[in-house]
Amino acid sequence: MHKIAILGAGKSGVGAALLAQDKGLQVFVSDANRIAAPHKKALIAHHIPFEEKQHTADKILSADEVVKSPGIPDSTPIIQAIQKKSIPIIAEIELASRYTHAFLIGITGTNGKTTTAYLITHLLKVAGLNVAIAGNVGTSLSRRVLENKYDYYVLELSSFQLEGMYHCKMDIACLLNITPDHLDRYQGQMAAYIQAKFRVLQNMTTKTHFVYNQTDDNIKAYLQQHAILPRQHPVSIQQDHKDIGNFYSSLTNLRGEHNWFNALVAIKVAQLLSIDKTRIKRGLSTFTGVPHRIEWVANIGGISFYNDSKATNVAATYAALMSFAQPIIWIAGGKDKGNDYTALQDLVRTHVKAMICLGKDNSRIQRAFQQIVKPIYITTTMKEAVAIALSLAQPEDVVLFSPACASFDLFKNFEERGDCFKQTVLQVKNTRIAIAHHPHERNRLSNETIHQSVAEEQSKG
Ligand code: ADP
Repeated sequence: MHKIAILGAGKSGVGAALLAQDKGLQVFVSDANRIAAPHKKALIAHHIPFEEKQHTADKILSADEVVKSPGIPDSTPIIQAIQKKSIPIIAEIELASRYTHAFLIGITGTNGKTTTAYLITHLLKVAGLNVAIAGNVGTSLSRRVLENKYDYYVLELSSFQLEGMYHCKMDIACLLNITPDHLDRYQGQMAAYIQAKFRVLQNMTTKTHFVYNQTDDNIKAYLQQHAILPRQHPVSIQQDHKDIGNFYSSLTNLRGEHNWFNALVAIKVAQLLSIDKTRIKRGLSTFTGVPHRIEWVANIGGISFYNDSKATNVAATYAALMSFAQPIIWIAGGKDKGNDYTALQDLVRTHVKAMICLGKDNSRIQRAFQQIVKPIYITTTMKEAVAIALSLAQPEDVVLFSPACASFDLFKNFEERGDCFKQTVLQVKNTRIAIAHHPHERNRLSNETIHQSVAEEQSKG
């Protein structure tokens, strides 16, 4: 019997385990950390053997094949041991793709995957196609394949997932952009990261389609050096704005030029599937975006607050800063992944009137901007970051939480971080409303606390 070991019991690992068991494989699941209760429950309910807080080498190294969670780096000792024994390591999507004949639309790139994948799914749904999103977002492809309900899957594919894909074939692949990210996982080698992204094209034939960013330097350079089989559909704001932009551009609710580019890619995919203009228009105008991506939170006294917690790299924050004409109070910082902030400096000079660094160790990001924006405030709590922002902002300003860093220093993930920002802003708003309605309270709860915390921060330097 084919033995499969699954490393990492998150959404995709558990999905893979359920699918593999359903297909008659012998499954063992192993997670170095504690397995979340609902995942554990699913494994127990299906009598799938598992372990947590450890990797038992014997059990894993006796497998014919290993499914690895994209979060586990190759440097992990158990992965090294598996590689030494030449046991094939695959991604969950590779496993799932063996058991489906559905039409696969793969979306990759450094930024914009989730937004574009959701938008494409929405356009296809509005057009009446039987489609579901899967992969990095929402439900795992394995669970979807088990349900066996859909004709089309839109897959969000990270470079880590693509690394474990060998035979899986996309019918349409979209490559949005390639800018430096995750270089800590690629030993600082940009070429390796680019190579991983282009794996999305492997196995594609001349009957398939490749939609890509025509203006991205890394993509352009790769295509000049490599011949590819799928039909090419370059997209650029300059070109497509003329052709299709005028027709659709007023319809999207998404903010920023980068999102307009994402929309152009989605429109191109819809056109390849022969969806008519009326349906595309209806889809575009009813798509409201994805949380944590330049998400509007509240307006407090004429100041608009936006949550862009998903901006975990420099290019995403660049796109966010470009999306506002108003002066910006910028809240940034977090776990620095060896970022090069120079690409942001000019934009910060012209668009940002004050900066607040929120993180455990703010030294690198602060150093990058200390000659560019003054003042810079330093804090380790969201409450204080929002209070400082509020005390500095004037009506018509924007407070933008776009960290350009990962979240793991103070939060579990970018969702928890973004939720914390939203809750803090809404708390402030509600307190203000309460004060406005109760004049006696007004004297007691003045702005004093806010000014105090700013003063304290300033005195800390
Ligand atoms: P991903 O799934 O690739 O991380 P998201 O749609 O979740 O992409 O967006 C991640 C971050 O990148 C957000 O801050 C978002 O505003 C920004 N972003 C979205 N699309 C683009 C794009 N085409 N270019 C640059 N940044 C983008």
